Amino acid sequence: MDQHIDIWQEVKGQLEMQLEDSTFEEIFASVDSVYKVKNNYVYLMVDNEFIKKRIELVYLQKMNRLLENYVDERYEYRLITKNQAEKEMSNDKSFGVNVPDHQRCEEAHLNANLNPSYTFGNFVVGHSNRLAYTSAIKIADQPGIVANPLYIFGDVGLGKTHLMQCIGNYILEGEINTRVLYVKADQFVEDYVRYASKKKYNEFNNIYRAVDVLLVDDIQFLAKKEKSQEEFFKLFEQLHNQQKQIVITSDRKASDLSDIMNRLTSRFSWGVTVDINRPDLDHRIKILQKKLLAETSETDMIPDKVIEYIASVFDNNVRELEGALKRVLFYCTAFDYDFTVKNAEIALENLVRPRRGEHDFLRNKIRNLLSVVSDYYNITTSDLISKKRARQYVYPRQIAMHLIKDLYDLPYKRIGTYFNNRDHSTVMHSIKKINNELQLDHNVKNDVEKLKHKCGENS
Ligand code: ADP
Ligand code: MG
Repeated sequence: MDQHIDIWQEVKGQLEMQLEDSTFEEIFASVDSVYKVKNNYVYLMVDNEFIKKRIELVYLQKMNRLLENYVDERYEYRLITKNQAEKEMSNDKSFGVNVPDHQRCEEAHLNANLNPSYTFGNFVVGHSNRLAYTSAIKIADQPGIVANPLYIFGDVGLGKTHLMQCIGNYILEGEINTRVLYVKADQFVEDYVRYASKKKYNEFNNIYRAVDVLLVDDIQFLAKKEKSQEEFFKLFEQLHNQQKQIVITSDRKASDLSDIMNRLTSRFSWGVTVDINRPDLDHRIKILQKKLLAETSETDMIPDKVIEYIASVFDNNVRELEGALKRVLFYCTAFDYDFTVKNAEIALENLVRPRRGEHDFLRNKIRNLLSVVSDYYNITTSDLISKKRARQYVYPRQIAMHLIKDLYDLPYKRIGTYFNNRDHSTVMHSIKKINNELQLDHNVKNDVEKLKHKCGENS
């Protein structure tokens, strides 16, 4: 125990060097006591639940990495609030969760129109959503200050609503009296039409303008609703001027919201814009493991192979991925079948067959194309799809992207997924470049024709 008191001082010193002064002061300065060491967990005592959550979300990993440098065995930090510690000492039971005003909490989430199960803790982070996630945490931590608005866009089922609601839930947990309001854009339109038809503008304003944090989901549903856009514009202006945090989600970039007035959409880029993409295989596996934990405590009964199978087939969106897992769980438990890949295949048959045909076909074609192109230029396929910038890789890579577009007409974004998740603008730029060169340079034209032939796609 004594040893850990000293170590914490060392770790704390490191944190002080690495963090901004104000952050360090606010969060760590008062953390001085090690409450206990048990089962290789070192419990640090903090002032309140909010600091505890903040540390757990943002800093705990870093702290544990620092700790590793001072111990031979594996130890990890855990946090305990003063309240919890006092309770534990007085009745010497395991920590009761500290919810004196449990009911008030529930009410606050309800009033905000939030689903309390959407939390940062169960949002699985990976390459495709890391920036969105870190931006969301920073904004939740300091609403109205870091960036306003936060604009999150991405295809359906990739976690926009989940992440947006995390922000609301987190803020409410920190300060229960904050007025958070979550609304879907179509609900906003409906509300407006209803109040306007009765000329109850004041009441409408009372609801929306009195908030501290406004979360508007699926803003694309404001399209063509001019009056509602006008009203939302005013609301946006007012809240923004008062530094009230606004978070917006959409299925596309703000600049592509063509049926919403420019005056409004141009303001969406005032703050920070982040996108969420499709998760890669590893990320999908992690998501399934997390969802499994939420469904059952006996996660061991499902072999990794089954999880990998589901993750490999459902690569389109997280909602489908989740649905597939539930279906397999239901099928195998209801009929008391073993959790095998074979049984998972049967359970998912109707969902999988139509998409797998298309999927495998294209995937094989593209795999073939990538290997043809890398052979032709005498480089490895992994260099071809890598992010290496050397000329001998860049040109073949651009050719490969061009060929995929030309032969299989996939969206830019999708093409990017074959090249280590390049973003769609890089892909678009590469393809344009080759298109230009095709006009100007015979050699390029020759290369492309030969390669098409080698891919078995004569044109
Ligand atoms: P969107 O609003 O983008 O259409 P949702 O937020 O409704 O998508 O997400 C669909 C489902 O997938 C939800 O059940 C959500 O919890 C889950 N989900 C999406 N992304 C993640 C993630 N990164 N980690 C955990 N669950 C996720
Ligand atoms: Mg949504």
